[in-house]
Amino acid sequence: MRVFKFGGASVKDAESVRNISLILHNYRNQKLVIIVSAMNKTTNALEKLTEDSFENDRASGSLFKEIKDYHFQVAQALFPEQNHPVFASLEKLFMEMDLLLGTGEKQEFDQYYDQLVPYGELLSTQIISWFLNDAGFQNIWLDARKLVITDNTYRSAKVNWEASRDVIAGKLGPAFSKSNIIVTQGFIGGHGSLSTTLGREGSDFSAAIFANILDAREVIVWKDVPGYLNADPMYFDDTVKLDRLSYTETIELAFYGAKIIHPKTIRPLKNKGIPLYVKSFQSPEEAGSVIHADISSDATVPSCIIKQEQVLISISSRDFSFIAEDHLHLIFGLFAKHRCGINLMQNSAISFSVCVDNTPRLNGLISELQNDFSVKYNKDLHLITIRHYDADTIRKLTKNNDILLEQRSRVTVQMVVK
Ligand code: ASP
Ligand code: MG
Repeated sequence: MRVFKFGGASVKDAESVRNISLILHNYRNQKLVIIVSAMNKTTNALEKLTEDSFENDRASGSLFKEIKDYHFQVAQALFPEQNHPVFASLEKLFMEMDLLLGTGEKQEFDQYYDQLVPYGELLSTQIISWFLNDAGFQNIWLDARKLVITDNTYRSAKVNWEASRDVIAGKLGPAFSKSNIIVTQGFIGGHGSLSTTLGREGSDFSAAIFANILDAREVIVWKDVPGYLNADPMYFDDTVKLDRLSYTETIELAFYGAKIIHPKTIRPLKNKGIPLYVKSFQSPEEAGSVIHADISSDATVPSCIIKQEQVLISISSRDFSFIAEDHLHLIFGLFAKHRCGINLMQNSAISFSVCVDNTPRLNGLISELQNDFSVKYNKDLHLITIRHYDADTIRKLTKNNDILLEQRSRVTVQMVVK
């Protein structure tokens, strides 16, 4: 059994949906769980719809219509038959959404978000499931909200592994005896009768959950890149594909900001030794990259990661006293309280420097830090991380930039630059 994951870019229009059936031809008569994300940028649109409707903004009506039109356009291109049952399924989902739209006042925002935003995945999987059926890939559509059981931490729900194992094993076994292919959603789960989400870009993690529980032989994440690249092609034109890398290296790269695989994906796969392939949906025959336990290929080429919108905060004592453990205790407590993750830190005798993402929560943090310390900060910075660095790569990346802070270990160099 294999688990496939198709992200938003791989299901963005009618042509990409057709492309899925081309890929499946290479896996005829094999058991597959297909995890799908929302089409293209639908999750962003649904987030906006959730916010607008929570504040009773009239604009939400036209946004709702935009989301609906987009899905119906894709469906019309795929299903020429006017009364194809897919249209009734989509209509039903939009009706449910419409009913939910009035319920914002009755609940906390995060809970409200988790009731609405999963519709991106529910819609995309309906279209894909019907399309594959018609294309000769008979499949069963399952609702992941009834399979991935979570707690009620809305918007970053924690998986209840035991409960999920029971239902996934209990429902997928019988489903597989009727059909080789199961289509379900990434990113979403359920808590009682309510929906939950696992955090943005969480579909990779969903694929890993199913793979772990079902002891899959492999997971394939189908992407718009040829494999795991050593740098983001958005910023670099000389990227290299990493053919093989380890689970550990992948987690490290994700920690430093590499976006290709969601960091939570690795642990469930590592625990069962399940390899994760990253392959191009445009050239499915190519080998792509494999992420596995073997660490021997990790250090072959430098990998570069750039985090934008960074803020460097420098915190120092007002009375010229050392920034020691008691101060650090207080400082870390405030970072945790305001949920500001630290990307890089460094201390000297009387000052402590921290590089963080620029988020709205930062204002609260800085003003509270100012109660006890003198605080200076610098915005609009980049954090450059190079794993397995060499002098050449460092030179190339920092040529004209002012380096405000630098930190090196044997494997990694990080630089905060203007
Ligand atoms: N559709 C969700 C998102 O855009 C989940 C995912 O794509 O992995 O965040
Ligand atoms: Mg996505």
